[in-house]
Amino acid sequence: MIYKRSSALFAQAQQYIPGGVNSPVRAFNAVGGEPVFVKEAKGAYLFDEDGNKLIDYIASWGPLILGHAHEPVVNAVIEKAEKGTSFGMPTAIETEIAKLAISMVPNIDKIRFVNSGTEACMSAVRLARGYTGREKIIKFAGCYHGHSDSFLIQAGSGAVTFGSPNSPGVTQGTAKDTLLAEYNNLENVKEIVLANKNEIAAIIIEPVAGNMGCIIPNPGFLEGLRKLCDENGILLIFDEVMTGFRLARGGAQELFNINADIVAFGKVIGGGLPVGAFAAREEIMNYLAPVGPVYQAGTLSGNPLAMAAGLAMLNELNNNPQIFNELADKTAYLHEGMDKVLSASGIDYTINRIGSMISVHFTNVQVTDFKTSATGNNEFFKKFFHGMLAEGVYLPPSAFESWFLNNALSYSDIDFTINAVKKVAKNL
Ligand code: PMP
Repeated sequence: MIYKRSSALFAQAQQYIPGGVNSPVRAFNAVGGEPVFVKEAKGAYLFDEDGNKLIDYIASWGPLILGHAHEPVVNAVIEKAEKGTSFGMPTAIETEIAKLAISMVPNIDKIRFVNSGTEACMSAVRLARGYTGREKIIKFAGCYHGHSDSFLIQAGSGAVTFGSPNSPGVTQGTAKDTLLAEYNNLENVKEIVLANKNEIAAIIIEPVAGNMGCIIPNPGFLEGLRKLCDENGILLIFDEVMTGFRLARGGAQELFNINADIVAFGKVIGGGLPVGAFAAREEIMNYLAPVGPVYQAGTLSGNPLAMAAGLAMLNELNNNPQIFNELADKTAYLHEGMDKVLSASGIDYTINRIGSMISVHFTNVQVTDFKTSATGNNEFFKKFFHGMLAEGVYLPPSAFESWFLNNALSYSDIDFTINAVKKVAKNL
């Protein structure tokens, strides 16, 4: 494929934007080469500035679970835009989407909308601290909860890709309140809790991790965290920015039948517009201003275009819950197909999958946490990524990211993908 125009646009962008991108992973540093500039997209396909057509396995890093430019979502945005794009005043649609989200997700009474997953997680932690009167939090190595200071401690996603899981600019004062645990290691979490008795406000976790590839919680792990939190007056925060409205109507809480105390959302809930949200039972949410003392605000929070996109998206999912099964079936089909061709190639690999999240790790060990995820052969991944791109398949440009399937993908798109994996594996 030719990437002449993308390359020229990248050169220009670098003159005016640090690294030419507004979010680091997009720059392809993790896989080498230059990023593809996208021009437009429809359904499962991206069309880049050079006219190449790519099958998309990122879906804007998760939000576009029904594919690009999904008509009900696009129409809802257009209709709203004609009536004013922002007011900074309450609107009826905010209550409408709040009511719908609360009806879909177990165990939440109230929800507050923000503009990104970062804001959602940051606010969830502040609320937990305000509610418990404690300052420390536990996070897991390799989990990513956005780029707020408290979370850039052994963070996954782009942070690890760029070798800055602990970013300069985060003060030691902030860092000391973030305690680090190993994913899927309950004993380790227990030890930390014991050593910090009555000091921990919250444990924040991706109930399925998607920022060190896709990592599934071991049976009993989330249950164990729930029990530990209950016994120690700690709030359990599920960061469902990736998993919410993706793994099930009610997200990971529904899938694993475990209640979190506070849930953070992003991605799907905004239908592709900048939206995040956090939610909890009434008693906790009433700690937020203007009812309670914990401050949190936003000029564009509850923005009408964003709410219209989110509402259209949630309505689609709520009215067609078979979408989650269809997606899981497609993802299983992709898994099986890749298994066949990769095992025939003799390469070391592990595939992790749950629902519509999947990742390929080039290692012969089971990938269950950050350490095992880091055993993946990155040189293989780079070649794999570029090989797939040359075949017309767009994967996340980093081994430390989950792939996200969207329901516009057809079985023939997936067959095409498996065939591409077969060709690429031969040259690895
Ligand atoms: N939490 C998780 C689990 C995420 O995957 C992300 C982003 N990928 C975030 C939080 C941050 O969301 P945003 O990029 O919208 O700020």
